[in-house]
Amino acid sequence: VPLPFSGKVAVVTGAAGNIGLAVATRLASQGADLALLDVDAAKLEQARATLLEHDVRINIYTCDVTNDEQVRQTVETVVAELGQIDFLFNNAGYQGAFAPIQDYPAADFARVMQINVCGAFHVLRHVARHMVARKSGGIVNTASMAGVQGPPNMAAYGASKFAIIGLTEVAAKDLAPYNIRVNAISPAFMGPGVMWERQVELQAKAGSQYFSTDPKEVAQQMIGSIPMRRYGNINEIPGVVTFLFSDDSSYMTGVNLPISGG
Ligand code: NAD
Repeated sequence: VPLPFSGKVAVVTGAAGNIGLAVATRLASQGADLALLDVDAAKLEQARATLLEHDVRINIYTCDVTNDEQVRQTVETVVAELGQIDFLFNNAGYQGAFAPIQDYPAADFARVMQINVCGAFHVLRHVARHMVARKSGGIVNTASMAGVQGPPNMAAYGASKFAIIGLTEVAAKDLAPYNIRVNAISPAFMGPGVMWERQVELQAKAGSQYFSTDPKEVAQQMIGSIPMRRYGNINEIPGVVTFLFSDDSSYMTGVNLPISGG
């Protein structure tokens, strides 16, 4: 029996990170050839090493998504080396600082926007050009529940993820005539991992009325706000992404699916 994504090529950005690698692993296990992009060359090489058991092509590309020209060249190289791009998991991101808006560092705000918004736009537009020519493709952008309801102390991150949901809706309209579907996923609290530890610690440090100043208590407060009373596991994400790439979601475009425990 052929695997569901045999013969397909998927581009994954932020592929050396937690969610990117989890999705890349699932795509490989379903037969897709992979183009893995990340700014961190060493982590990217490690990520590739964990995927070698899968009988698919895995090419890695060190690429800074904030650099539009570098993204253009990388996408061109991917098409030259792997032949086509069927799926894009547009996922590279940075959480930014934690501070109330009146103290939020402007340079960090700009950096979050550069990576999360401009970076996602650069990748989306260059991959879309290729997909438009083929009149086919599937795109999933990683937003966040921080892009649905603004969390305290996360001005840049919250604004950037609202922007991703907007970008998803616009791109879905622009690309619908070309048989390209564009959707978003919105994870909320995922753990364990760097992002979880970092946000628990930094929300405690930010010292607002919303969270305790003790990281352990912050963790409990966050978990207590989730109807399912637990944080999500990274492995609860890939199946949602592959669903959005698959024909099972063939009439869905421009939607944002929360992965949030309620
Ligand atoms: P992560 O830090 O493990 O992975 C992010 C990856 O993006 C890293 O490998 C990093 O090197 C890469 N990256 C950063 N800047 C880049 C750039 N300029 N160019 C190319 N690559 C770059 O974090 P993660 O949890 O895997 O996050 C993936 C996505 O999921 C992000 O968009 C994040 O905002 C989103 N998200 C995560 C959570 C969570 O709790 N983990 C929740 C909601 C949304």
